[in-house]
Amino acid sequence: MHKQYDYIIAGTGCAGLSLAVMLKQSKLSFNKVLLIDKDLKNKNDRTWCFWTNKSSNWFDDIVFRKWNDIYFKDKSFEKKINIGTYNYMMIKGIDFYNYCLNELKNDARFEFVTDTIYSLSSENGLGKLNTATNNYYSKYIFNSAIQTLQKKQNHINYVQHFKGWTITTPENAFDITCPTFMDFRVNQYNDCRFFYVIPFTKNTALIEYTGFSKNRLPTDEYDNELRSYINNTLNVKNYIIDDSEFGEIPMVESSFVNPFGSNIINIGTSGGFSKPSTGYTFYFIQKNIQKIILKLEKGISIKSNSPRKKRFQNYDKVFMEVMDAKKIESREIFATLFKKNSAEELLNFLNEESNLLEELKIMNSVPKKHFITAFMKKMIFGK
Ligand SMILES: Cc1cc2nc3c(=O)[nH]c(=O)nc-3n(C[C@H](O)[C@H](O)[C@H](O)COP(=O)(O)OP(=O)(O)OC[C@H]3O[C@@H](n4cnc5c(N)ncnc54)[C@H](O)[C@@H]3O)c2cc1C
Repeated sequence: MHKQYDYIIAGTGCAGLSLAVMLKQSKLSFNKVLLIDKDLKNKNDRTWCFWTNKSSNWFDDIVFRKWNDIYFKDKSFEKKINIGTYNYMMIKGIDFYNYCLNELKNDARFEFVTDTIYSLSSENGLGKLNTATNNYYSKYIFNSAIQTLQKKQNHINYVQHFKGWTITTPENAFDITCPTFMDFRVNQYNDCRFFYVIPFTKNTALIEYTGFSKNRLPTDEYDNELRSYINNTLNVKNYIIDDSEFGEIPMVESSFVNPFGSNIINIGTSGGFSKPSTGYTFYFIQKNIQKIILKLEKGISIKSNSPRKKRFQNYDKVFMEVMDAKKIESREIFATLFKKNSAEELLNFLNEESNLLEELKIMNSVPKKHFITAFMKKMIFGK
């Protein structure tokens, strides 16, 4: 059967649903949008944290907690830091899915199909999405379901891997005024390992053990480290585990490519929206989808949509090279960055919203020897 739509959204996770909500709120005129996913999006499968200083965002209503201070902790340096005009925000996955699905369910232009996508292609000026039983067509198919990373031999491709437990304690144990952005007071295992603590209430928090490395760890290791951190570092002896989440986010120098032709537009992680040096993706999804909608409204082609400015890609390449060379602990780099810069400047830089002058100041604060060597290797000799 030949079914044609104005837009098709392949994958209704963070990027797909953000796009659908922004399409609904846009000035664009359309009659039929297909949203297709193999999953019903009815589970609390992730927690999103990010920071923004923009006052009105469409997802403001579902922010579960927000803070104006963050903790940075390391063996040599520990600080509660005010983040100025920024707020550090947290959204529960299930609240996000429910909000978006509610926004769309009474609008007859949006049709939902639960099915597995087998392939995507472009034919005769139309994008084609193929499932076991149907072919669907549209001028634009926005894909966040299928990822195609083109690995190159000399590229550094890491993964941010993490396991989190939401725990409840009988006694008050958490400072609800301030989440822990990074706690490096743990064994680094010649790697980059740290904890997040996201307090929901005084006695419930999400504790997340995170690593930046080439491969994820065996499951037991996350559990052992979580147990040890809760007991020994947080000094919490009694608790129950309410919930658990596991995630892997690409931190890659290689690019996500589009082998599906020009009618398929990759978005979300598939579109390369994850920031390689931090793994943060949520905010970049919102910014990039906004850009796509604006282009569509202005009638500008979205076929060559580059998600990131070249200079930020280069900063990340150099940072990843320093991390991979292991001549200095990543822990020490992050501690230096937080010691020598205001958190607001740093968060602005990490959101890729800084200017060149601000970036030079941040570059001047890092351990120079290691960064110059990495810069020479990546940027001058192109290795
Ligand atoms: C546990 C976890 C926590 C995270 N926390 C943060 C955070 O705090 N801050 C941050 O910035 N980023 C975070 N991220 C990274 C990133 O924001 C999320 O992964 C985000 O969901 C990416 O959005 P996406 O739309 O690209 O992918 P997804 O949200 O994963 O959506 C992809 C969709 O495609 C569907 N799909 C896949 N294959 C098929 C197929 N063949 N057929 C049909 N459907 C298919 C999936 O069911 C899914 O619904 C986290 C990631 C995880 C996994």
